[in-house]
Amino acid sequence: MLNRRTLLGAVAGVALYALSPLGAFAAEPLKVVASFSILGDMVQQIGKDHVAVTTLVGPDGDAHVYEPTPADAANIAAADVLVVNGLDFETWLPRLVAASGFNGAEVVATTGITPREFEDHDEDDHDEAADGHDDHDHDEVAADDHDQEEAGHDHHHGSNDPHAWQSLANGVIYARNIATALAKADPDNAAAYEANAAAYIASLEALDAEVKAAFAAIPAERRKVVTSHDAFGYFGAAYGIEFIAPTGLSTEAEASAADVARIIDQIKAEHITAVFVENIANTKLIDQIASETDATVGGELYSDALSGPDGPAPTYVKMFEWNADELTKALGTS
Ligand SMILES: [Zn+2]
Repeated sequence: MLNRRTLLGAVAGVALYALSPLGAFAAEPLKVVASFSILGDMVQQIGKDHVAVTTLVGPDGDAHVYEPTPADAANIAAADVLVVNGLDFETWLPRLVAASGFNGAEVVATTGITPREFEDHDEDDHDEAADGHDDHDHDEVAADDHDQEEAGHDHHHGSNDPHAWQSLANGVIYARNIATALAKADPDNAAAYEANAAAYIASLEALDAEVKAAFAAIPAERRKVVTSHDAFGYFGAAYGIEFIAPTGLSTEAEASAADVARIIDQIKAEHITAVFVENIANTKLIDQIASETDATVGGELYSDALSGPDGPAPTYVKMFEWNADELTKALGTS
């Protein structure tokens, strides 16, 4: 705050301060709590020094299975604004918010996006069988495992996919929702939030065009990737890539033997070489799948969380660049 006051004389003519002279003297930054690291970064990019951001599920954390702490409740209680993803991503959050006595503004970052419905694997399998796929004949374990399918499935029939941030077009909607909420909660700095958001959105749109061009250069039949859980549905839809995962939309459910066998079949039949682990998930399942096929693990994708500050994906933009680079490298080589 001190440097801003000192600078005020020098920048008195600048439109930002001229529009909102009192804002420059506001002593306290807006207290914002973000449910997970990707939202925390977006709030920081748009709020800059007008906000003090606390993130509940931090870098490399898994928000699907998070266990809140008493400190989280205290942070929420003290917050002016709470930013959440919605679409049932943070299943543990509503109870925490209710218990905290939160009295601020809650913004659901996915408001206005078109949710992607989860496609159930069972139906795919039945279709394949009806089409007379012959892959199963070649595989010694697949047939038995497929028979177990009826028993242990825990897929979320008809639920929406919460991983909407994995499309930059949706990232733009997140940024707009966050900017609107910050401006409403702190009208003195509304012009700053709007200017920061406009610059941020321009960078997301430029990156979106770059990523689209990079994947368009790869033949469509090569654009198939195996990851551990279904976190990349929006990414796949936006950039024309088929993502295949043994675990469903949440990391909470275990992959069934049938799901693993199905993916091993598919990797062999379609000669898929791009197999990735995720920063938030155990690598055991992916290692097992890779060991039973010719595929090698291509690297690590950032699905539901950023890296720490020294990692390759400390911001949403860097995360997207990293994931797109890793994927184009893996898909572009044979
Ligand atoms: Zn996830």
